Amino acid sequence: MYTLIGGERIEKGCGTIDVINPVTGEVIDTVPALTKELLDVAVTTAAEGQKEWAAYTQMERNRILRKFAQIVQERREELGKLLCQENGKRISEAEEEFDTVVALIDSYCDKASHMYGVSLPNGTDATSCHTDVIFTRYEPLGVVACLLPFNFPVELCGHKIAPALAVGNAVVIKPPTDCPLAVIKLAECLHEAGVPKKAVQVVTGRGSVIGDLLVEHPGIAAITMTGGTETGIRIANKTAGNLTRTYLELGGNDAFVIMDDADIDLTIGQALESRTNNAGQVCCASKRYIVHEDVAEEFTEKLIAALKIMKIGDPMDRSMDIGSMISEKARNEVIEQIKHTVDQGARLVYGGEAQGKSFLIPAVLTGVTGDMDIAKDMEIFGVVFPIITFKTVQEAIALVNNCPFGLNSAVFSRNIALAISIGEKIQAGSTIINGGGNYRTAAMPFGGYKKSGIGREGSAHTLEEFVQEKSYVLKAVLGNV
Ligand code: NAP
Repeated sequence: MYTLIGGERIEKGCGTIDVINPVTGEVIDTVPALTKELLDVAVTTAAEGQKEWAAYTQMERNRILRKFAQIVQERREELGKLLCQENGKRISEAEEEFDTVVALIDSYCDKASHMYGVSLPNGTDATSCHTDVIFTRYEPLGVVACLLPFNFPVELCGHKIAPALAVGNAVVIKPPTDCPLAVIKLAECLHEAGVPKKAVQVVTGRGSVIGDLLVEHPGIAAITMTGGTETGIRIANKTAGNLTRTYLELGGNDAFVIMDDADIDLTIGQALESRTNNAGQVCCASKRYIVHEDVAEEFTEKLIAALKIMKIGDPMDRSMDIGSMISEKARNEVIEQIKHTVDQGARLVYGGEAQGKSFLIPAVLTGVTGDMDIAKDMEIFGVVFPIITFKTVQEAIALVNNCPFGLNSAVFSRNIALAISIGEKIQAGSTIINGGGNYRTAAMPFGGYKKSGIGREGSAHTLEEFVQEKSYVLKAVLGNV
């Protein structure tokens, strides 16, 4: 496939990268590996496009973005199939990503119409006079670089382009190399809806090459990136040189706390929903199961019984419960992480084996202790349930916080006051009470404490990150009659 620079399809003049179906191992397409010269063209073209797009009224921008949402809705089935093929996620999961984009556009367009500046009181200090008028207005930042991970490329593209475009920025989108195709199609839908072609660029190529060049490009006003913590730190180091605004949504190793009075059947349903979604490749999935010792046996037995009847296979088959991982390599890495945890003293009591090219039979590990890597900083991107037991609330909280990440968390108890009080002590961007960690809405401020990131995504918050507030002073305009 081509990539899109200034609305032109770029196919030649650079190398190509294969896009592989992880289920079959077949090459389904190729994308250009852009050169530095083409990247420069993309950024300078975006700067021209930004001026054009910012000159539209808010009403016109909203109308065009809503048209885009309508096109996405109409093409949901065809685009979902493409995403399923290049990523291996279940077809319904792929389609839901496009639904989220539609919801995000709606939410951000509504909010953008209400980006009120403020009128400030005057005469409040020695330097301001009571006859002056002071007010503020918001302006777009310029060109925003949007770097996307492989696990939810379309949905997360929505989380970035919707706020950036709604307030008049241009975007340069860097799709994940493993699955760039549906994102390129999404950019095409933006153009079709009427967003100026120069205001939306897609730059394909390896993150270590083209991503690196993009984030340190002086023409970029802000970076919004979702991906691993190591990549995020590398990007932050690079963007510091230009003082580029940098928003990072990074890794997690979120806790799922089960108190002794929890409804265990509820915890099973929620654990499965949180952890098996997207074949376990979810940043905010619950990844550490911190269970009161009195209910640990019941939870483990019921969890294994439920996993045994889940169907793993062809993601295009709607009867499947768990789809493929992104690649054989990624699946094998998870198997290595399971072995590593067993070497550290845990017991593998269910699953953890390879199936087909890139599938994994879910794994359950018991006897996990707080000093093991899996209980601290080893994020596992696959369906693995490490079970760690505790006796006291204080012990549970210490286990939860004994981790460099802090994206999401879940607490299960029939005592809501206790659950909220535990949530208050948890160092994480959100706490779900009696629900699994994999929870996010279009408006909710989503993001991490500690090494899970900088900034918050969600229409309740993000527009403020993509504008700058300018103060205007009208000197001595009052009191003239
Ligand atoms: P990744 O390897 O960090 O890649 C993320 C993006 O950054 C990709 O587009 C990648 O390009 C690019 N990239 C890689 N190296 C780069 C560099 N040196 N400079 C600039 N860009 C670079 O992450 P991933 O494996 O795709 O995604 C999984 C990770 O993302 C997990 O840790 C997960 O927890 C996290 N995640 C977080 C959230 C959240 O909201 N907090 C959501 C989803 C995922 P290439 O694809 O070409 O390498």
